[in-house]
Amino acid sequence: MGEDVEALERRLPLIEYLRQCNWKGSSVGRSEFVGLCPLHEETQPSFYVNTRKDVFYCHGCGQGGDLIRFVQLSRHLSFRQSLACFDPQTTSEDGSRAVLEQAAAFYRQQLDDYPEALSYLNQRGVHDPTLIRELEIGYAPGGCLRRHLTAQGHSFDLLRQVGLLNGNGPDAFYQRIVFPLRQGQHVVNLYGRSIGAAFAHRFLPGSKGGLYAWEKVRHRPEVIVVEGLFDYAALRQAGFDNVTCSLGTHLNADQFLQLCDGPRTVYLTFDADANQSGQQAAEQLAHRLEAHGVAARRVLLPQGHDPNSFFVQGGDARQFQSLVEGAQP
Ligand SMILES: [Zn+2]
Repeated sequence: MGEDVEALERRLPLIEYLRQCNWKGSSVGRSEFVGLCPLHEETQPSFYVNTRKDVFYCHGCGQGGDLIRFVQLSRHLSFRQSLACFDPQTTSEDGSRAVLEQAAAFYRQQLDDYPEALSYLNQRGVHDPTLIRELEIGYAPGGCLRRHLTAQGHSFDLLRQVGLLNGNGPDAFYQRIVFPLRQGQHVVNLYGRSIGAAFAHRFLPGSKGGLYAWEKVRHRPEVIVVEGLFDYAALRQAGFDNVTCSLGTHLNADQFLQLCDGPRTVYLTFDADANQSGQQAAEQLAHRLEAHGVAARRVLLPQGHDPNSFFVQGGDARQFQSLVEGAQP
């Protein structure tokens, strides 16, 4: 067991796992990052990650430890269960794909039955029924997925391993708008946006896959990259069809290679947040892309805006287009 943990931690550093979970940390010093704690609700960052020692510590809730400890705490699993989550042998790819597909279908069926979900979508400016269907947007009310999927013959262990259930049984997604993430034909993950105050962004454990809906745009000479799926939806609805989404500001290796796989100009349109983290990430990414021979421009939104809020608060396609045209190298 001891060796397994070491091998795992060499393969997957804690910071990489956290980024896969959409954690945003700002660099403080050579080997330290700080951000909001994924283990307790807070508004001031007190969760530190030391990349040299590969450990975390939160000054808010006092929790700390390594990758496995983090998985135990965040997913309410035992040590053994946490380790099993990273073992490719324990879940067959076909089994987990099938169950994710059915979970996505179930969530899709729920959407129209929950006015709070539709009103959240509306509040985020997503109202085009054709687009909602195309993106397969669903709703996880919480508390009913387990019964549905076990009735279809999926085992409790499988549901827990793919992360649809927490360690002791409840649904992992509770009151969340759900977007399935596909790679080719297969659902590889689900993104859940809380409609309440609880931790805003959640993914299931495991890879987010490549860029969102990349197949639709990979042959376009100009591609707009946004960091969130609500940004994506807002731009699509405004008529921009050359958009993809990186699901966070840190691109994984697959996503980066996709952007580099042919000649194109990439317009990075990350959030213009007060702490500049979106703009810093865009700047670094632009440099890396240029170093790989890909033209990159940074689209500067008005301070405090992301592409979603830009449109929700009255921005229109023409105004956005002029920001794209004024994008900086
Ligand atoms: Zn904490």
